[in-house]
Amino acid sequence: MFLSIVVPCFNEAESIPALVHRLSATIEPWREWAEIILVDDGSTDATWAQIEAARDIAPELVGIRLSGNRGHQVALTAGLEAARGERIFMLDADLQDPPELLPDMMHMMDRGYDVVYGRRAERQGESAFKKATAWGFYRLLNMMTDVDIPKDTGDFRLVNRRALDAVLSMPEKARFMRGMFAWAGFDQIGIDYTRAAREKGETKYPFRAMLRLALDAMTAFSTKPLRLATRLSFFSLGVSFLMGLYVIGSLVAQHVVPGWASVVLAVSFFSGVQLLTLGILGEYVGRLYLEAKARPLYFVSEEAREGTPVKLRSRAAG
Ligand code: UDP
Ligand code: MG
Repeated sequence: MFLSIVVPCFNEAESIPALVHRLSATIEPWREWAEIILVDDGSTDATWAQIEAARDIAPELVGIRLSGNRGHQVALTAGLEAARGERIFMLDADLQDPPELLPDMMHMMDRGYDVVYGRRAERQGESAFKKATAWGFYRLLNMMTDVDIPKDTGDFRLVNRRALDAVLSMPEKARFMRGMFAWAGFDQIGIDYTRAAREKGETKYPFRAMLRLALDAMTAFSTKPLRLATRLSFFSLGVSFLMGLYVIGSLVAQHVVPGWASVVLAVSFFSGVQLLTLGILGEYVGRLYLEAKARPLYFVSEEAREGTPVKLRSRAAG
């Protein structure tokens, strides 16, 4: 097997026919040595039926059905673990990432790169809010982390076997795949592309999911937020010192100070600081707890590969 294509799909029934069509056309040069792995991330629509139907026209297609919705990054991991290729290409089901970029990425890899990632030079059809939060997120992430995670990249990339094996050897449960690939190192290069608008259906990343991904990314690649508590304590010490000066000053000047405003200000400021640092601690402790439980990332309920669907196999990750 030479090429594996991995696509996580959550309620993407509408996108699958076009996806399979365009992928089949793109892999033409490598058809005999290629597989297309579609991972159904516990969809509640006809995604699985569509995957099974697509296998009639594309026999190189492998369907993996997870037992429930585990999220984009875990579904991607499941597909990557099933991949047998020497080179692995991953993209979203909604065709926002053009499969037609594969030949260019292949050329880059021929030149010796281990990872060729797509960089979103332009984003079409996404809300101003999504663009702004994504823009801010990648810059904040870079400030906060010691790993150089390329800006404006998603999970759209071509990787070779050694880079993939490196990432799959990381057992963490909170999986921010693009960060893990960046951390793995090796020779990496980006290709700019225009991220098209979603063809069918709607985004599976509501604000809640974006926030969770962002927090996973921050906590997985940085402990700087933990140190924020120390910095804030210096700051609040500074503020208290100034307040002390003010109190002494007003005593000397024999002003009768009602003092209400400053007390309320101090109380609300310091309780805000405490809640913030407690919250940051909570984010890390919660993740420690998840890692400590060491549950399998996912279970496979059905697998459609070369004719026979194998029911009820479970696989532990990592
Ligand atoms: N996805 C998934 N599980 C989820 C959410 C999303 O497998 O719980 C898949 C989805 O089907 C798509 C990819 O992850 O292939 C990216 O999702 P989406 O296009 O909705 O995100 P956006 O492009 O809007 O950021
Ligand atoms: Mg999308």
